[in-house]
Amino acid sequence: MQYRFSEMFLRTLRDNPADAEVASHSLLIRAGYLRRAAAGGYTWLPLGLMVLNKVTAVIREEMNRAGFQEVHFPALLPREPYEATNRWTEYGPALFRLQDRRGADYLLAPTHEEMFTLLVKDLYSSYKDLPVSLYQIQTKYRDEARPRAGLLRGREFVMKDSYSFDVDDAGLITSYQKHRAAYQRTFERLNIDYVIVSAQSGAMGGSASEEFLAPAAAGEDTYVVTSGGAANVEAIQIAPAASIDFASLPAATVHDTPDTPTIQSLVEFSNSKPELVGAKPWTAADTLKNVVVRLTHQDGSTSALAIGVPGDREVDMRRLEAQVYPATVTPFGDEDFAKYPTLVKGYIGPGQLGKHASAKIEYLVDPRVAPGTSWITGANKSGSHVFHLVADRDFKPDGVIDVADVRVGDDCVVPAGTVTQLARGIEVGHIFQLGKKYAEALDLKVLNENGEQITVTMGSYGIGVTRAVAVIAEQHHDDKGLRWPRAISPVDVHLVIAGKDESLFTGATELANTLNAAGYSVLIDDRVGVSVGVKFNDAELLGIPTIIVVGKKFVDGVVELRDRFADQAVDVALTEVVGAVQNLK
Ligand code: ATP
Ligand code: MG
Repeated sequence: MQYRFSEMFLRTLRDNPADAEVASHSLLIRAGYLRRAAAGGYTWLPLGLMVLNKVTAVIREEMNRAGFQEVHFPALLPREPYEATNRWTEYGPALFRLQDRRGADYLLAPTHEEMFTLLVKDLYSSYKDLPVSLYQIQTKYRDEARPRAGLLRGREFVMKDSYSFDVDDAGLITSYQKHRAAYQRTFERLNIDYVIVSAQSGAMGGSASEEFLAPAAAGEDTYVVTSGGAANVEAIQIAPAASIDFASLPAATVHDTPDTPTIQSLVEFSNSKPELVGAKPWTAADTLKNVVVRLTHQDGSTSALAIGVPGDREVDMRRLEAQVYPATVTPFGDEDFAKYPTLVKGYIGPGQLGKHASAKIEYLVDPRVAPGTSWITGANKSGSHVFHLVADRDFKPDGVIDVADVRVGDDCVVPAGTVTQLARGIEVGHIFQLGKKYAEALDLKVLNENGEQITVTMGSYGIGVTRAVAVIAEQHHDDKGLRWPRAISPVDVHLVIAGKDESLFTGATELANTLNAAGYSVLIDDRVGVSVGVKFNDAELLGIPTIIVVGKKFVDGVVELRDRFADQAVDVALTEVVGAVQNLK
């Protein structure tokens, strides 16, 4: 193919769009790949669509290679199947619900477990039919709380979703491993740098699950690495602290600590009073901070939850949301405090917390608040704290909750070992061993060898196709623009005509013909009245990795070959161009 810049439906922009927070978003808009059409919805322009199609093709090839078969469902679906699995309700406000003219309830599918389960039930009835894995490449709809960062979190986006069906756990594990391997191949071919991390299964239900995270500062997920593996912070488990024998610990005493509503002010005050300091100065880690939040449950009811964490830690909202799912979390506001008059803001202590206390607020503590540990904490009176308050001696929490922020050096059970690294990533794929949840809810059974009905076990596997485009842009760009990996660049070669002479135009077209004959598609920047500087800037912005400049030396049969991916430029004789292009990696 040959594309002429002068005729392409393409406008590049000099400035970053006002709403762009991340590089991939601004570059894809500025380079004329995308336009915003709605909140969380984007229009693909010709160059963008070429990239999307290439990414889709790689994913499809790898799915087919693994032996999975492609189908295609509607996105507009009836309520009943999602009612049967309770997801009509459980999906909460993220589900787009609508009605047809007769008043029947429909949804725009956020994911398709129910439909695949019913499809297999419709056609299969024997263990001999299994295993089978089916997939589709489909538009999904989710009314995300915070659509952001362009393609990274849309409300309408393309997903490749697959589902495996097996008769037993061993089969499920085999299907899961096949998908895992297919994903590894896919992301390697897409030039996406990724880590596989243990994950929480969230809205899907089920047990084992792993995410493919693309390391990037723009990512919304945080993962930890230990000697034993890697996990999303939503899924890690901190090693429990050992219980301590409290027989010899001093008794709890209440002290006036005026104007100490923050941990820092409390520590400073405590260290400034000789009568309060023990063998060594107090630190924030000696204090017990009690954070109260409001939970909103599925049925719309609300409740208060108090979380006790060492004062040098914060409650990590992502970890908390993952733990209390499907309930949602809101910080305690003035109107909440008004409902619980015994809570004294800044001085909340275990004395008022727990189901046994008068306020009846559930009280869960960090694993580090183990039996026998001693704390400085709020005395439930303004300007007052209690010292040497010992867990299990002086207060009994209702349970443990592992939601504090994670740090390098923390000991974990999942993933096993000490945390050596914390990093941000973008979730580009997610694989789940669902088990029987959906098959049970929708009664998907087959006959086994003994003629008995057995429930099928399932896996579900997703790749964010449109998100993958953004991830590639996020991982492959510089301050001048995009730098597409060759496998998914919209066009193979960008020919810049650097001059006004007619011979350059005919020469460039001939060169494009030669490149086409060798199998390369070419974009020719044939614009007249556009300066060479602007053409070069646009070439860098567009990010086609192979740029050929047809300019001054063309009379001597020489062009300049630029490798945008490796950031190099060399002069090449016209007769050598095809070979030189072939040699670029
Ligand atoms: P996230 O935690 O980012 O919301 P998720 O856990 O909801 O993702 P899944 O339901 O597992 O995602 O969906 C499979 C894949 O679809 C994800 O791994 C991701 O790549 C992609 N995806 C999910 N939500 C969006 C979205 N709003 N916009 C673009 N891609 C998305
Ligand atoms: Mg989500």
